[in-house]
Amino acid sequence: MKIHLDTEKCQGHGRCYSLAPDLFDCDDLGTAVVVVTGELNDEQLAKAKLAEGNCPEFAIVIGD
Ligand code: SF4
Repeated sequence: MKIHLDTEKCQGHGRCYSLAPDLFDCDDLGTAVVVVTGELNDEQLAKAKLAEGNCPEFAIVIGD
């Protein structure tokens, strides 16, 4: 499972990089950037799903 981020949807609320700073960062405009682009381990997957569930723009999708 990997993190898929739609930067067109991201409004820079920052919830993802607040909840999972080891998985997400932000650019100068506050738009989210995925730090871990490869396969997620179990611990990363749990945090990624937390971020997915808390993104108000549905910009984060965890999948293959
Ligand atoms: S929580 Fe969603 S909208 Fe907010 S910065 Fe992260 S990806 Fe963007």
